[in-house]
Amino acid sequence: MLRAGGLVAFPTETVYGLGVDAFDPAAVARAFAAKGRPADNPLIVHLADAGELPRVVASITPLARRLAATFWPGPLTLVLAAVDTVPPATTGGLTTVAVRVPDHPVAAALLTLADLPVAAPSANRSGRPSPTTAEHVAADLGTEVDVILDGGPCPVGVESTVVDARGERPVVLREGTITREDLGLRADGSEPGPAADVAASPGTRYRHYAPRCGVELAPAGGGPAHARRLVATGARVGLVAADPAPAGVVPIATVRDVPQLAQRLYAALRDAELAAVDVLVVESVPEVGLGRAVMDRLRRAAGG
Ligand code: AMP
Ligand code: MG
Repeated sequence: MLRAGGLVAFPTETVYGLGVDAFDPAAVARAFAAKGRPADNPLIVHLADAGELPRVVASITPLARRLAATFWPGPLTLVLAAVDTVPPATTGGLTTVAVRVPDHPVAAALLTLADLPVAAPSANRSGRPSPTTAEHVAADLGTEVDVILDGGPCPVGVESTVVDARGERPVVLREGTITREDLGLRADGSEPGPAADVAASPGTRYRHYAPRCGVELAPAGGGPAHARRLVATGARVGLVAADPAPAGVVPIATVRDVPQLAQRLYAALRDAELAAVDVLVVESVPEVGLGRAVMDRLRRAAGG
């Protein structure tokens, strides 16, 4: 299906991807159209292993080599200079390309069998919460997609960390599971010298993850109390918190730690819609490690 220019949704460890042949501009255009994705928001090209990099990347920097050896397969995307045969549709017209090797057995098998670099944005309608189950893909893109490979719920649940790896030090363009600390960077983003995080990742300027209900952030441990206050105003309120929902509040998810919140976050946003709540209250987590990526996604869901 990929070789024929089709759209194949597949699970990765982060979220479900909407895969197309990265070198087929017509297929890439279909993926953008299916998602309603702005044309200047480039796609991540997925490879079976780091040995495939020369198919899409013009210059593999020592930093890229080191990061790939350490974190691939895994949720780290590297931005590097593209070979000039990668279609502008895939790169959003940039001279760079984003690449990663996913760590999921279904993705790995698909990429190996297809023997193609596969461009894959998240398999949701643009602006919707990212899909972490095959059902989420079917709900958003059921009529547009040619095949959905169902690998069950994604284990990580938030998108990959995007890093510009063209220089000597990594520059984080989008927060994710591979943290600044993992990359040897300062947790507060205050890197010395020229490696400050000034480069922009085109996709991060768009509003993301907006469910069809309100989302409000409560302080850590303050979710049940915040939810009760909203219920008192007459609202139908859902809760994602460390503690169970009190009486009168719709239980959406009880999460014991940050990785579990990351894994269940997007499903919780969709479950809150299905439960027809007016407002979903989600407890904040400390902004260290994976907590930075989770809070980034939560703020976007809450409207910025
Ligand atoms: P998504 O596929 O929805 O996870 O989005 C992919 C993310 O990677 C977006 O935030 C893009 O802006 C970013 N990205 C893809 N290619 C590049 C690139 N060449 N330079 C910078 N960011 C990129
Ligand atoms: Mg996306």
